[in-house]
Amino acid sequence: MLPFRARASPGWDCRLKAAGGGLICAMLFAPKDADSSGWRWDHSYAALPGIFLTRTLPVAVPSPEIVIFNRPLARSLGLNPEALESLAAVFAGNEIPEGALPLAQAYAGHQFGNFTNLGDGRAILLGEHLDPAGRRFDIQLKGSGRTPYSRGGDGRATLGPMLREYIISEAMHALGIPTTRSLAVATTGEKVMRQEILPGAVLTRVAASHIRVGTFQYAAAHDDLDALRTLADYTVARHFPELLESDRKYFDFLEAVIERQAALIARWLHVGFIHGVMNTDNMALSGETIDYGPCAFMDDYRPDTVFSSIDRHGRYAYDQQPQIARWNLARLAESLLPLLHAERGTAVDLADEALGAFENRFRGHWLLGMRHKLGLLTAEADDAALVQELLDWMHASHLDFTNTFRALSKETAIAAPAFVDAGFLPWHARWAARLARQPQSPAEVVAMMRAHNPVVIPRNHRVEEALTAAVEQGDLGVTQRLLEVLSDPYALTAPVAFTAPPPAGAESYQTFCGT
Ligand code: AMP
Ligand code: MG
Repeated sequence: MLPFRARASPGWDCRLKAAGGGLICAMLFAPKDADSSGWRWDHSYAALPGIFLTRTLPVAVPSPEIVIFNRPLARSLGLNPEALESLAAVFAGNEIPEGALPLAQAYAGHQFGNFTNLGDGRAILLGEHLDPAGRRFDIQLKGSGRTPYSRGGDGRATLGPMLREYIISEAMHALGIPTTRSLAVATTGEKVMRQEILPGAVLTRVAASHIRVGTFQYAAAHDDLDALRTLADYTVARHFPELLESDRKYFDFLEAVIERQAALIARWLHVGFIHGVMNTDNMALSGETIDYGPCAFMDDYRPDTVFSSIDRHGRYAYDQQPQIARWNLARLAESLLPLLHAERGTAVDLADEALGAFENRFRGHWLLGMRHKLGLLTAEADDAALVQELLDWMHASHLDFTNTFRALSKETAIAAPAFVDAGFLPWHARWAARLARQPQSPAEVVAMMRAHNPVVIPRNHRVEEALTAAVEQGDLGVTQRLLEVLSDPYALTAPVAFTAPPPAGAESYQTFCGT
């Protein structure tokens, strides 16, 4: 362990620009030796042109302590939990593991529609870990002190929001939704000034990468075509290697990113997830959900639900998420224009073509998932209307989104209406008739529905209860118990206390950015 000294692993300095397509891959997937903790460091991002990063170190903190460590994740990454979970100094940023190469990434972003130059203002990328299967993961410390991109911020994060990211990202993973993950939260011993004085904390985030729409906006704003092309080639090699040999690589890349986002946003809607701050710097090209600030899950089905206190106009409301994703993707397409075609008019036509497909891609993913939620294993032309009528009835009846779908996921509910409500009976008759027109048995239908309708989601009042116990009493037991229940969200065994909607008054629930 080297306090505040980093040693580059072999090969980190191989230059992408000089490498060419084939060599990018060779570099990206060259195995390195693991150390006793299991880290196998590599640093492909650090080899990008200098404008994309600043080499810098975390800022030391007075008394690091690990409050939660994700053993199953560590194991799945080929890391050694027993060796790592006592290394508070590493997970608070006081010591740099040998072979890591700390840096802050530069990016830009549209925040609530306004373009700003940003960058990791409170995060440090330690490098990329290669797991035993050769998969590459960014290992990032979030809340690790000021960087050259901190602007007016203190570079710090607090315990509540970092635990919140840990809980919700792990819940999303268990739900089967692409997401960054959380390896550890360490408290720092520092008091951090927000509306009140709060305990400081550092989250270790694991991500397929931290390349954002905003990273491309940053490259485009620099007016440096070589840097933009290098970033695009790098991202293709890292996330879409199947496109490397394509003769219309950048167009295919744009389409592939659009496809992943269309699929991701549909998955969010299927479980009632509201990201809350879909700025372009919070949209990852990997297709993972990233940046769990003011996010929350919807209770009653209300399409215009907004939880974030700063989202006063509902820009990022539940039902706005598809069109905001498309807007963000349009910013990506704009940034890629010089790569799409040398002639600008043609480039714009190509961008329009790719973006124009977003709506259908999204609708396709959304409808397929909604069919699964209703046990429809075949496709009929009226399915979208059937789904919409159920949603309209749920909206009018103020019904809990998660629990209504679960209440339907029973053979008894298929046989007889699960709700004694005049508005529901005609819909139930249509649904039952629709199910009868497909060859699958009720048992198959129920199995499909149970696999797509979670029993537990991270209920806001349960998350708040866990965070309050952790921050105010230093009791992580409530968080551990919640994580345990959330780790198996489709199981039939979840205790009622975790599946019940919140007590009255929850309509006014608000979330806050953790800055
Ligand atoms: P976020 O809202 O977490 O996505 O952050 C938006 C931008 O602000 C990112 O560039 C962050 O690095 C930066 N930022 C957020 N909080 C802080 C902070 N306390 N100190 C410095 N930079 C911050
Ligand atoms: Mg962010």
